Amino acid sequence: MKVLMLDQAKCTGCRACEYACSFEHTGKFNPLDSRIKVNEFWEDLTFVPSVCLQCERAYCEEVCPTSALTKNPETGVVELNKEKCIGCKQCIVACPWGSIKLDHTGKEVIKCDNCGGDPACIKVCYPGALSYEEVEDITNVKVQETATRLKEIAKDLVKGGA
Ligand code: SF4
Repeated sequence: MKVLMLDQAKCTGCRACEYACSFEHTGKFNPLDSRIKVNEFWEDLTFVPSVCLQCERAYCEEVCPTSALTKNPETGVVELNKEKCIGCKQCIVACPWGSIKLDHTGKEVIKCDNCGGDPACIKVCYPGALSYEEVEDITNVKVQETATRLKEIAKDLVKGGA
């Protein structure tokens, strides 16, 4: 299963992802209609993209009174059925990541759908802050990174004690 990965350290805050997302879903370049949001912290020039993480236990799905949100067991994507949505906004309240939002009209609920398996945002993220990866590959990379860090710490400790 593939997941959208965020590497905050690489984000330059260009917001190209927001424009690409909006265009993909509406045919217009309006960040207010983007399913991904780049949070800006100008005091220390930090930019943190946030987007639906397609939670395994999706609170949005649990609170939706009309079952407009359902997790697709094959793709892992929590899908929104616009026809069933009554705009009660309970999913927005329930999302621990703040990743479900209203569109530019302030009336329609929108969320990331991974563009049906070919996310538009990653194609324009030139710094590489966004990627779409197999969970298993990511796990292996993370294990390797952590092991490398621990090795460096162990080396420093040995040097310090020598
Ligand atoms: S395109 Fe990439 S670098 Fe630019 S704002 Fe989005 S996540 Fe950050």
